[in-house]
Order: sequence, then C-alpha cells, then structure tokens
Amino acid sequence: MAENASSSSSLHIAGGDDELMLDGFESGWVEARTHCDHLGSLSSDLIHIPPPGTPCNRCEHPEENWLCLCCKDVLCSRFVNKHMLEHYQQKHHNLALSYSDLSVWCFSCDAYLDAQVILPLRPVYETAYILKFGNAPPFRAIDYPQGVDKEANT
Ligand SMILES: [Zn+2]
Ligand SMILES: [Zn+2]
Ligand SMILES: [Zn+2]
Repeated sequence: MAENASSSSSLHIAGGDDELMLDGFESGWVEARTHCDHLGSLSSDLIHIPPPGTPCNRCEHPEENWLCLCCKDVLCSRFVNKHMLEHYQQKHHNLALSYSDLSVWCFSCDAYLDAQVILPLRPVYETAYILKFGNAPPFRAIDYPQGVDKEANT
C-alpha cells in the first residue's frame, strides 16, 4: 500500500556524548510516552538479554541494532536494512529497545516509550544500560506518571 514513511524529523536525539547523562537527559530525551497498551507482549525474561554489540540476526549489521522486547531478537534499524521494522510487520512484535541510545520504541503506538516511568520496561532498560555503560542508570525522580510538564519557571 501507500508507503507513508515521511512523518520524520522531529526526532533529534541530542548528541549526548559531550554532556553528562544526568544533565543532558531532560533536554535530550525525545518526547516519550508514559503509557502504552501493548506491554502484554513483553518477554517474560528480560533479565537475560544479548549484549549491545550483538549484530543483526539477519544481515549482521554490527552495531546500533534493536532488541525485540518480545522475543529478544536483535535486528537492525530502519536506517540500515529495516529488519526490526520487518520483524514487527511480520510478527507484530511491537516493542523494541535501541542499543544505540537505549530508547524504547512501540511500533503500535508509533512512539518512544519512557522506560523510566513505565515500570515493566525498567528492568530491561536497566539491564541494557548496565551492559552498555557498566553501571546502573541514573533514574530520575518521578512525580507524576502522566507526563506533567514540569519546567522550572523561575
Ligand atoms: Zn504501545
Ligand atoms: Zn539487518
Ligand atoms: Zn520479536
């Protein structure tokens, strides 16, 4: 059918490398949902996951792949050979974690999910973070799960 892959370019994930995670976190975090109705498909064992350097299971693309949170397949992004996207289209596994920036994407919501607010996503986010960086993530304080825009208006 009509390919509609054009609603792009609101995703500026700030470089982040030159800033401390704690400081760059709020500003670099793309708008992420704090609620998702598709978590029922999450794998029941997300403690044991492949390491971030795992190549794409189909094309062997070496890095910045996605981890399917439903079956733990590692597949490349839509900017490489779209194997994660294909996987979703074929199997309807709609939740994936990016090994490049540890964001979680829901294909059904068509949005990023906030892995710190959505509790079922926290363990795998934390595990992936530790695998990638060697220490536990700096979870930010969470006040209201409904994404209240809390900006310092001073
Ligand atoms: Zn969803
Ligand atoms: Zn691939
Ligand atoms: Zn899968």
